[in-house]
Amino acid sequence: MTLSNGRTYLAIPGPSVMPDRVLNAMHNAAPNIYEGDLVDMVAGLREDLKTVARAKQNLAIYIGNGHATWEAANTNVFSRGDKAIVLATGRFGHGWAEHAAALGVEALITDFGLNSPIDLNRAEAALKAAPDAKAVLVTHVDTATSVRNDVAAIRKLMDDLGHPGLLMVDCIASLGCDEFHTEAWGVDVMITASQKGLMTPPGLGLVYFSDKARDVGAKADLRTPYWDWRTRGSAKFFYENWFGTAPTHHLFGLREAVTMLLEEGMENVWNRHTALASAVWAAAEAWGTDGAFRLNIANPEHRAHAVTAARLSGADGTRLRQWTEHEAGVTLGIGLGMAEPGDPKGDAFFRLAHMGHVNAPMTLGMLAVVDTGLKALGIPHGSGALDAAARTLADFSAGAKLASTSNAA
Ligand SMILES: *Cc1c(COP(=O)(O)O)cnc(C)c1O
Repeated sequence: MTLSNGRTYLAIPGPSVMPDRVLNAMHNAAPNIYEGDLVDMVAGLREDLKTVARAKQNLAIYIGNGHATWEAANTNVFSRGDKAIVLATGRFGHGWAEHAAALGVEALITDFGLNSPIDLNRAEAALKAAPDAKAVLVTHVDTATSVRNDVAAIRKLMDDLGHPGLLMVDCIASLGCDEFHTEAWGVDVMITASQKGLMTPPGLGLVYFSDKARDVGAKADLRTPYWDWRTRGSAKFFYENWFGTAPTHHLFGLREAVTMLLEEGMENVWNRHTALASAVWAAAEAWGTDGAFRLNIANPEHRAHAVTAARLSGADGTRLRQWTEHEAGVTLGIGLGMAEPGDPKGDAFFRLAHMGHVNAPMTLGMLAVVDTGLKALGIPHGSGALDAAARTLADFSAGAKLASTSNAA
């Protein structure tokens, strides 16, 4: 017997669940890529993508995944030998730094470990030690650790110190999930990709950049024609904006996804993610009252709202994941970059996604399946997780929780 037949649920932090509306929007004949409907549609899409990101300045769209946007941002800003301050809080922060270093950028990494957000005192020391750094690289939400960093506080720190560098932020796991204000938070370069909060297949990379970033990067000698952000979106001939054929069906899908986000309203999107994340944390707290279950980030104020990294002991993280996928139709995320002495593959860890097109039954169902898996595998855990999750969502639904969340912020 298996409990997994029926509609399965991919609860990994990207690619995320694609709405039927997005899939249906992609079910289209090939369009004219030189003029007409597609060209008109993309002009409006670009503006709406700025609304989603609370951005006002420039946007370059590439055919590529998140890693492509790292390279796009790096090559448009840096020259060989430039310094970049990297404030790393997990695997993805280090990944961006490695990509920069491979291009010949001097990546000055401050590592905040795998359980903590950026510490402002150590960030201050890093900024003071490299006043000539061209940019500061920050990951808003590091998807491996599920830590969420305070980007506005980094901007303020840079301003207080008079640091002239660009603030560059990876929002691949957070845009469309966690509150983010590109313009108001003084972010010069913001990168994201289509397959997480934007609910579209992997394959589109977005790079938002300020006029200041464009000017600072004007002489970047790492720039190559294909990645040049000045051309993207600015050429009169649509075909040139893409350096060839546009990613037609990804654009149809993204158009529909952005329409869905704006119909819901970004504040409501953020609040929905806050509520569902809080339900996950409430369940985790109950599980953790007995046995080894722990969330990777202890302080709720520093947790992402789209993904939650958790640990058990031994190889129980992997055992649990395999059980939920094969026995119950819910695929959880692997532990990423969480190897430890005694656990070289990070098998104690796993990740619960609550990212993008998710609602109460999906998240409560995922939690119920995890609870069932813990029982089926005999993994010790505290009781009352589902009750706690339901209570949390009931409080959010009554408005009790959001009021207190926004007061705290
Ligand atoms: C997913 C992710 C990436 C990598 O994106 P890909 O599309 O897999 O290349 C980079 N940074 C963060 C924070 C991510 O969540």
